[in-house]
Amino acid sequence: MNFEELNLSAPILKALSRCGHHKPTPIQAEAIPKALAGHDLIASAQTGTGKTAAFVLPALERLCAERPDRKPGLRVLVLTPTRELAGQIAQATRAYSRYLKVHSVAIYGGMPFGDQIRALAQKPEMVIATPGRLIDHIWRGRIDLSQMEMFVLDEADRMLDMGFIDDVEFVCEAVPEDCQKLLFAATMGADTARLAGKLMKNPQRVEISPGQMTHESIEQRLHLADSLQHKNRMLRSLCRDEGMTRAIIFSATKRDADSLARELTAEGYSAAALHGDMTQSARNRTVMNLRQGRIRLLVATDVAARGLDITGISHVINFDLPRSAEDYVNRIGRTGRAGKSGVAISFASRADLAYLDVIESYLGQNLAVQVIPGLEPKTPISGGNGARRKISAAPNRGGRGRRVYSEGRPARRPAGDGGKAPEGSRFRAKESGTRKADNGAAKPATRLARRPSRPKNVSA
Ligand code: AMP
Repeated sequence: MNFEELNLSAPILKALSRCGHHKPTPIQAEAIPKALAGHDLIASAQTGTGKTAAFVLPALERLCAERPDRKPGLRVLVLTPTRELAGQIAQATRAYSRYLKVHSVAIYGGMPFGDQIRALAQKPEMVIATPGRLIDHIWRGRIDLSQMEMFVLDEADRMLDMGFIDDVEFVCEAVPEDCQKLLFAATMGADTARLAGKLMKNPQRVEISPGQMTHESIEQRLHLADSLQHKNRMLRSLCRDEGMTRAIIFSATKRDADSLARELTAEGYSAAALHGDMTQSARNRTVMNLRQGRIRLLVATDVAARGLDITGISHVINFDLPRSAEDYVNRIGRTGRAGKSGVAISFASRADLAYLDVIESYLGQNLAVQVIPGLEPKTPISGGNGARRKISAAPNRGGRGRRVYSEGRPARRPAGDGGKAPEGSRFRAKESGTRKADNGAAKPATRLARRPSRPKNVSA
């Protein structure tokens, strides 16, 4: 199938071709016709599948359709969990609308209010926003949702995981009932399904399984690790490889990201950390440095790196395995982009084996075990397909029993170790109660049945 068959208009086809997108990805091929037909839609798809275009292209088609009765103002709202994603969706929107007259704006926290207020005063037709800052502007009467025609909840599951439930529900209840709603999520957990049930009537569904994802270009490897020191030695060995031109190394906590980046820098590597405790401008600067090749090794947490769209990442290294299969898929999707190949390497110590099971079950495949000569795990590896699987004996570990491990040294961060929680788990405290406009700002014109409390960082 090609994009012409999706009935997209000529300026959009021209922009797609300029972006080097010649064939729709599976999520695009399935979601775009349904969205163009005006259906509400629930789509299960990870980042890396081309999901952004799956909702941006129908949104642009809507925006370029003639509507003589239309008042100027917001017609399409995209809500997304992180600032990086909002920035990237805005960038993709600009690229796809290059030959259209569409005024879109990204509104997210950590950026000065002044610019956003000026941008909103120009009545953009499309806003791409993170929940907290969006609600702030709604409360101050700067965004009117009453004319909206399309509402996109991007990474809905992630937003709920991050504690945005009240904010998300607030926005959902404020959008007009007859506006088209599209919900994208990596997985459909109970909370996401409940939200979708409240938001939509008779939605169409599109599901892209992990096997259909565009990860064929990524070689996935697994290195079994005896200890933190062993992981560190393996990492240094990989860093010495000149074939690793640009890498993202994932650590579980912000503190570890900082200290690993510091250590690598002290050893002479161009490295930097990226995590949610950094100011937005420091995050932007770091991402820019990575993009421009001034940084070779980025040590990141999941929240900060989610959705990062940088081409030319040769390697993703899971120094710490993620706690969920979705995060694994997200992480590895940072490499192998835009037609290039990439390598995703995961270190797994004893404490990670349960997570590894979950990831492999989700992927429907075992990751290929590799060893670095001279840095083999001390505990013997025996039997098993592809030479992994049996590392030693751990009779009471449970699970699928195909991997046994008895090495006694404590892993770096055993599950539930009382250390700092992985970033994102407490990303934003859940707020409750009634939000009141404390500056007498005009109330939004649309229904505002539920009101999450005012974000703490809002100055009157
Ligand atoms: P996303 O899942 O939306 O984050 O997209 C992942 C990457 O795929 C981005 O770099 C997009 O520019 C790229 N992409 C999206 N659609 C296509 C397509 N049809 N052909 C080639 N690349 C695409």
